[in-house]
Amino acid sequence: MKDSFDIAVVGSGAAGIAAGITAARAGCGTLLLDRRAAVGGTGGFSGLTTLCGLFDDEGKFLNDGFAREFAGTLAESPPMRMGKVWVLPYRPEKFRGVAASLFASTPSLQTRWSAPLTGAVVENNRIVNLNRFCVGAVIDCSGSAEVARAIGAACLATNESTQAPAILFPLCHVVRELNTPAAVAQVLLPLSRAGFPMLSFQPSLELDTITVKFTGRADQVMDVIAFLQKQVSGFENCRTPLTEFTAAQRAGRMVIGQYLLTGADVLAGRKFPDAVARCAWPIEQWSADGAARFRYLPPGTHYEIPARSLRAAQVENLFMAGKTISADVDAIASARVMGCCLASGAAAAVLAARWLESSGAR
Ligand SMILES: Cc1cc2nc3c(=O)[nH]c(=O)nc-3n(C[C@H](O)[C@H](O)[C@H](O)COP(=O)(O)OP(=O)(O)OC[C@H]3O[C@@H](n4cnc5c(N)ncnc54)[C@H](O)[C@@H]3O)c2cc1C
Repeated sequence: MKDSFDIAVVGSGAAGIAAGITAARAGCGTLLLDRRAAVGGTGGFSGLTTLCGLFDDEGKFLNDGFAREFAGTLAESPPMRMGKVWVLPYRPEKFRGVAASLFASTPSLQTRWSAPLTGAVVENNRIVNLNRFCVGAVIDCSGSAEVARAIGAACLATNESTQAPAILFPLCHVVRELNTPAAVAQVLLPLSRAGFPMLSFQPSLELDTITVKFTGRADQVMDVIAFLQKQVSGFENCRTPLTEFTAAQRAGRMVIGQYLLTGADVLAGRKFPDAVARCAWPIEQWSADGAARFRYLPPGTHYEIPARSLRAAQVENLFMAGKTISADVDAIASARVMGCCLASGAAAAVLAARWLESSGAR
């Protein structure tokens, strides 16, 4: 068994999938490890059904390369407009399946499942060993900066009060249109009057099914469904196939990099000379009562993510992607959507491969 890799990727969500495949395609012997038993991360396992952050406000791809390739293979229907933004509806099982088949067809990528990060060794400002494998460079795609924490590199935590966790579940047999804010408000009003925490609806590719994001407790889900069945027309026969409900964590931890992307950069649509990815998603804030606040970029604009936000400040060969990039609490509330994670994952892999060449570490 191989015990030395050019690049190690920790985490196999949207960012890790992009980083692992791109690093291996760049000719690097790549190791990807995840504490879960299979590939997918939040996009594959939390019940999400909309891939956000891929498109500008005309529905055109913001990033070519891996993000576009992955979305193209995942897509079963065209992108759809949701208010001011465009999203790609998808099935989580297909998200996992597309990633698994890309991994299987990429010989220089080796994977380790049910393999939590157990430790990393730093020598002369470089990570030289990770989970007892010798490594040339590391990409932290753990969503919570696990590599950076293991080596004591500086991190920032997302503010959980503006990034409240939510329970996601499919609701089948819903025969009511929910495609305008007014139509949604008619459903939410009685729920809120009855004292339930707020929920929001996302499209699903399954027939007569919607995805519900619920910012309440797991033990309230069945009461919400019973209330909808009794009180809201079009929901009389609704039900969920799930029997257990777990909250997905929006908040993560960001590694301090060579540049800290800010909320002001996002809202100004700032461009950078060392840009490696584009994003136009608004800054999303979710409070514990389920209320959402969206701050949009000016129409027709996008911001860029500089390479410096994907490179750790203190450790030469540590790169970040997805929810761990060097961004403040506001900026990550935009850049954490999966379209952007795919783009930053691919970009981090290219940067790591280039660093290996230029530093002579390969
Ligand atoms: C409630 C909610 C709703 C959302 N809605 C949307 C939406 O509609 N559309 C959208 O695009 N985005 C949405 N997002 C945001 C998006 O899903 C995430 O920000 C994104 O998936 C993060 O991707 P990632 O690859 O950075 O991390 P993740 O997908 O979280 O992947 C991290 C991976 O690292 C692994 N890992 C963690 N720690 C370790 C360790 N110590 N050792 C080994 N492996 C480890 C995990 O098991 C996981 O597989 C939502 C998020 C939440 C929580």
